[in-house]
Amino acid sequence: MKEKIYLSSPHMSEEGFELQYVKEAFDTNWIAPLGPNVDMFEKEFAEYVGAEHAAALISGTAAIHMALKAAGVSQGDIVICQSLTFSATANPIIYEKAIPVFVDSDYETWNMSPKYLEQALIKYPQAKAVIVVHLYGLAADMDKIVELCKKYNVTLIEDAAESLGTTYKGKHTGTFGDFGIFSFNGNKIITTSGGGMLVSKNKEHIEKVRFWATQSRDKARHYQHSEIGYNYRMSNVLAGIGRGQMKVLDERVKRKQEIFNYYRERLKGISDITFMPINDWNSPNCWLSSITLIGSVRPNHIIESLNEENIESRPLWKPMHRQPVFEMYDFVGANVADTLFRNGICLPSDTKMNITVQKTVIERILGLYRK
Ligand SMILES: *Cc1c(COP(=O)(O)O)cnc(C)c1O
Repeated sequence: MKEKIYLSSPHMSEEGFELQYVKEAFDTNWIAPLGPNVDMFEKEFAEYVGAEHAAALISGTAAIHMALKAAGVSQGDIVICQSLTFSATANPIIYEKAIPVFVDSDYETWNMSPKYLEQALIKYPQAKAVIVVHLYGLAADMDKIVELCKKYNVTLIEDAAESLGTTYKGKHTGTFGDFGIFSFNGNKIITTSGGGMLVSKNKEHIEKVRFWATQSRDKARHYQHSEIGYNYRMSNVLAGIGRGQMKVLDERVKRKQEIFNYYRERLKGISDITFMPINDWNSPNCWLSSITLIGSVRPNHIIESLNEENIESRPLWKPMHRQPVFEMYDFVGANVADTLFRNGICLPSDTKMNITVQKTVIERILGLYRK
């Protein structure tokens, strides 16, 4: 069996930066939660994306959960959420017993359609928060989405789990809204094996999240609690991995973009294939190179053909309003997310993948069109 090629898998630096920081943590016995790596990771991360404040947490999902709490979302509140995404975007809405309303995408960005967002805001003027996602590293239409959230006075949370390194008009995704969240899960562009970051302009909110995330311990000598706490803080060891990975982030973005450009160049002759939209205001990190198909070659044909080479590929995210666990909630939109899901496929985009493997992927796809 050939070595398995993944869509996107952990890629530590050749220089061993991560191990250096982890070793420091060991040498100083800062293994337990928190410590200098956590503080420095937050600082270096905030500087990189241009955010004012950051809190390192155990996952991107925990970061969304904390953002919702900081936005004051509680039982029975409406939260408007992009439908085309991974379930982790929407699950924390349910953790807080709030009610999701899902919104369709547009073809120009694959992300939340400003038109349908406005329809949802008119239908639910009491909505507490909006969660927009930057899928596959493509930025959503932020000018319009920020303006709408201001107009309707609703908190904006950006799920930038997949888009670290992506800029929209020169500014990093995750820094437009009231809150931005990032993920360092194993499949993301950089990883701490598992982890997340919450960023915000609002210092009080970030400090409050750090408090909740360390079990809500009141300032008292004994253990005193006046709020429910969470064990959501990132450990000092994992923050060390994160600091090392930050040093290679720009390299990873460049490599992901190269992978995308190579697919686009070699597959441009196939008129049935449309590449994910790269708008001129958008400099995407190209986390996963994704395409949609019309015609007789279907996503499953490509997935099965690549599978024979032990190469992983997948359909796009299945929309949340089509998920058994969420289908009882309202949806505002048409059939854009459905159409993208039905016709879309994520191609292998692993930064460790060499050109020979990528040529195999391309040959397999071209082969299906020769039949
Ligand atoms: C990965 C991901 C998350 C969750 O991040 P974790 O760190 O795995 O909890 C949330 N939203 C999107 C869009 C993701 O891709």
